Amino acid sequence: MVTVSKYFENVWKSMYSTCVGMRITWRYLLQKPITVQYPDERMPIPNRYRGIHYLEQEKCINCLACARACPIDCIEMDAVRHGKELEWISFTLDYQKCMFCELCVYPCPKDCIHMGTEFAFVSEDRSEFVHDLLSYKGMSRDARTRMIEADKKKAEKAAAKAAKAAEKAAEDAKGGDAN
Ligand code: SF4
Ligand code: SF4
Repeated sequence: MVTVSKYFENVWKSMYSTCVGMRITWRYLLQKPITVQYPDERMPIPNRYRGIHYLEQEKCINCLACARACPIDCIEMDAVRHGKELEWISFTLDYQKCMFCELCVYPCPKDCIHMGTEFAFVSEDRSEFVHDLLSYKGMSRDARTRMIEADKKKAEKAAAKAAKAAEKAAEDAKGGDAN
């Protein structure tokens, strides 16, 4: 038979255990929610995060050092050299293979390939995981202007040289006639 004192003891114990159980709930009850509504909102990402690469194409010299350093051959590039200028065709990175080790970044002599903070990969098509890191194909406007100017200078030099040679030949011919 339950005595009155035992009854009150049980009531006290149940109230106490409820309070202990709710302690953490109460602690967070009045705090702002910390849920982030991804992808509309994103948590801050540390600078050292190794996400999808980005290339500073203007600085890249097509030396292949990054591609050679990659242990699983993810990087491929193709460019045509016109004297000092580069005409870019492709610079791809295959994220089906990449393990985000960053080994391609360190040997770059121009410090132009980096790992960014973007990480989202969603696609039903595997070919979309081969990213082209180029921001433009072909030559940049500046590079094209430099190339055109260099070609112009070269042509002017060649024309001047040819004119000089023709002048000399004419003088020689004149000298020959006089003799
Ligand atoms: S992060 Fe590593 S695996 Fe990915 S491309 Fe660079 S070197 Fe290759
Ligand atoms: S190592 Fe740097 S400069 Fe050389 S090809 Fe790669 S990104 Fe370009």
